[in-house]
Amino acid sequence: MATLTKKIQMVDLKGQYLKIKEEVDKGIAEVIESTAFINGPAVKEFQADFEKYLDVKHVIPCANGTDALQIAMMALGLKPGDEVITADFTYVATAEVIGLLGLTPVLVDVYPDTFTIDVAAIEKAITPKTKAIVPVHLFGQCAEMEAIMELANKHKLYVIEDVAQAIGADYTFANGTRQKAGTIGTIGCTSFFPSKNLGCYGDGGAMYTNDEEIAKKLKMISHHGQSVQYVHDVLGVNSRLDTMQAAILKVKLKHLDEYAAARNKVAAHYDKAFAGHPNMKIPVRVKNSDHVFHQYTLQLVNTDRTKLREYLAERNIPSMIYYPIPLHKQNAFKSEGSFPVTEQLCDTVFSLPIHTEMEEDTLQYITDNVLSFFN
Ligand SMILES: *Cc1c(COP(=O)(O)O)cnc(C)c1O
Repeated sequence: MATLTKKIQMVDLKGQYLKIKEEVDKGIAEVIESTAFINGPAVKEFQADFEKYLDVKHVIPCANGTDALQIAMMALGLKPGDEVITADFTYVATAEVIGLLGLTPVLVDVYPDTFTIDVAAIEKAITPKTKAIVPVHLFGQCAEMEAIMELANKHKLYVIEDVAQAIGADYTFANGTRQKAGTIGTIGCTSFFPSKNLGCYGDGGAMYTNDEEIAKKLKMISHHGQSVQYVHDVLGVNSRLDTMQAAILKVKLKHLDEYAAARNKVAAHYDKAFAGHPNMKIPVRVKNSDHVFHQYTLQLVNTDRTKLREYLAERNIPSMIYYPIPLHKQNAFKSEGSFPVTEQLCDTVFSLPIHTEMEEDTLQYITDNVLSFFN
């Protein structure tokens, strides 16, 4: 079997930076030179570029994806006791802010093939106290947004899309309309955490909406509930995107589609190598969604996952488990109910390195070694 001398990483941020170094360094230097560190011109410029890219009326930048979710729920006037339905199989932030605001997180199961929130399970969980649904576009593809929006309209519920992992993915409705993930529901919330598909070099996040009134509220709440300077109409928070991060994001946004294509190429290579293998189920695509492959996540069948990970680690191949424990089993969210799919997934999912700088020989080395484990 071939050997490999370079270091394999889950995400290669350095390699990606080197390709855009000149432009990024220039953007950062300009911010330092101007000393407009807070709300400098790059923030507005990135905001405008991103609105255009997403084809959405308003992007409101903020400090991180978790804040985006929290501010979204504050702006919708959700009150303690209101129920918010979200997926049991997700990153903790989604459910955390629901609890922090005194709202009641109602966790539901996901689909066993695509890992996105189960629409029938949402419908079953709706009560007179339900106010919002938070679908998570997990690992890079959209939840079943058409069915979710129908359900939300029928029951007059808000939809807050957690698009932290699927920036740039398109969703296609039955009538052929295409919309970017996060621009379909009431508010979309995203993260620019460095390893996300559009990552900055620190923390960052944003909210998107087509609703003028909601946009005003999101902006106000993220700026201390301020309407005019030193006039505070509602309780808010302090959540801003740094100018330096906006300058970096402005450069990286231009490459986002090309980054998604590079990730898809990696996924196609893995798919080809592992399709039909008795011990691995390759990721299933949501029919109406693009996949931007934030993660490449397989399901293992009759396999000792720990042994596989150790075997790969010995060969300098990193791997991850997204996510090892269902939210309903976390002490912070202990929740009654039946979540057989999430429980099964937490025991069997397995994520391989995927990023924009992956080279052919690295991919070959990874797939060869994964396959050799089973021989
Ligand atoms: C990363 C992530 C978040 C939180 O984003 P931060 O910027 O780290 O606060 C929320 N939801 C999901 C699904 C995520 O992957």
